[in-house]
Amino acid sequence: MPQVTEVLARSILTPQKAGSLAGAYDFSLNPYAGCAFACSYCYVPKFPSARHQPEHWGGWVEAKLNAPQLIKKERALVFGSRIFFSSATDPYQYIELKYRLSRACLVELLKYRPKKLTLHTRSHLILQDLDLLKQFGESLSVGISITSDSEQVIREFEPQAPSLARRLHLLKTLSSEGISVFASLAPLLPHDGKNLVRLIKPYVSHVWLDQLRWPEVSTAPELFKRYEAYFQEDNYQRALLRLKKHLTDYELRVKP
Ligand code: SF4
Repeated sequence: MPQVTEVLARSILTPQKAGSLAGAYDFSLNPYAGCAFACSYCYVPKFPSARHQPEHWGGWVEAKLNAPQLIKKERALVFGSRIFFSSATDPYQYIELKYRLSRACLVELLKYRPKKLTLHTRSHLILQDLDLLKQFGESLSVGISITSDSEQVIREFEPQAPSLARRLHLLKTLSSEGISVFASLAPLLPHDGKNLVRLIKPYVSHVWLDQLRWPEVSTAPELFKRYEAYFQEDNYQRALLRLKKHLTDYELRVKP
């Protein structure tokens, strides 16, 4: 279990003027800081906001108790805006069961109608908010992170996150409920491209593809050794190209 700290945040909508979300989104929204899913490659420990934590990555979470109230306070920014929920945490990690901050934020966002809302998660807990998700209509899309077609690879790189089987079931369920859903193949981990595309193809409208960056912050450098051939730069770029060929039927977006 992570060390959980309850905090009061100063603001909740973070402007996206630079960085990978800029251009596609106006704000990111993170009801938690830190993330108990503990993906070994996660880039968030690079952020200054994460560096003050003595615990190892995955071992701490801050619950921003006033996140819903801050949305109300910042409601003038919400109307007509494009919001990415969440960029530096998983909004449906397991402590959401206790705090329900993501749910409470959705309730507030519904009142102030963003133009575009993208939820991004690895977790089936999002299904508990299906009633709210449906009310956003076409402004909502949900990205599910599917980084490999191998259960073993996902277990190695993302030790505390839900299994591949659960995520595939989540894709299927959201799709069958009429929610616009995409697969986030970001970062692309060791995989079988043909099989990966076969698994996601029936359920997603489009795909985000991105490569693994900043290996220097990895909490499991031994995995790079184990998969050395795959991550060797030329090989990795070839693997990305091969996957793009398998994805020709899709709207393929490089992750914004
Ligand atoms: S779920 Fe996202 S934020 Fe959480 S550890 Fe994994 S990559 Fe980082």
